[in-house]
Amino acid sequence: MEDQEIDVEENVQEPDVEENTSAPLPIVGQSFDSWTDAERCLNSYAKKNCFQWTTDTSTSIKNENKKLTGRGETVLYNEALVHKNIVLTCVSGGKKRINQGTGQRNFQATWKVDCPVMVHLIANKTALVVKKIITQHNHTCDQAYFKALPKTRRSNLNDDKATSTAKLLFKGGVKPSVVRSVLRDMGCGEVTQRDLANLRAKFEKI
Ligand SMILES: [Zn+2]
Repeated sequence: MEDQEIDVEENVQEPDVEENTSAPLPIVGQSFDSWTDAERCLNSYAKKNCFQWTTDTSTSIKNENKKLTGRGETVLYNEALVHKNIVLTCVSGGKKRINQGTGQRNFQATWKVDCPVMVHLIANKTALVVKKIITQHNHTCDQAYFKALPKTRRSNLNDDKATSTAKLLFKGGVKPSVVRSVLRDMGCGEVTQRDLANLRAKFEKI
């Protein structure tokens, strides 16, 4: 069980997929016109199934487009795709970090149980396509588990530098979509439209 790789490319057609109509399982070959769409689908699936995604690795479209432009290419990636290549894993993915010196488990990483759940998306020029998805957790996913997870994304957005940057940009009349990508580049993780609206409301009170 522990190290077994479950390749869902073979299992994607399971009938129970149809049950969650409000949160359909992303399937291999599914494509999204923007990262926002992909994120919405993945997040609603995670929420419905009581777990959270975390970004494992990603490469940006912006950098890729810069390279292409540098080579004189004119057909670029749609920037709304944001990621050229992105792997998300269950937040319980990854090994428990063992402190080398004492052999004790790192306190903050106790929810890491090497869960194999992951999704890999690759962009072509116009869409993000699901390349691989693994959906079977090696731990219980329920409300108690979900509530115990660290709220990394929120705390990142509460970072002073991020909020003051957002404030400046909004004051300067910068478009929300641009503010979002700036915050992303600052390492705030995935910033939703709702997050932005909340931030903005906070500034308007000041
Ligand atoms: Zn998991």
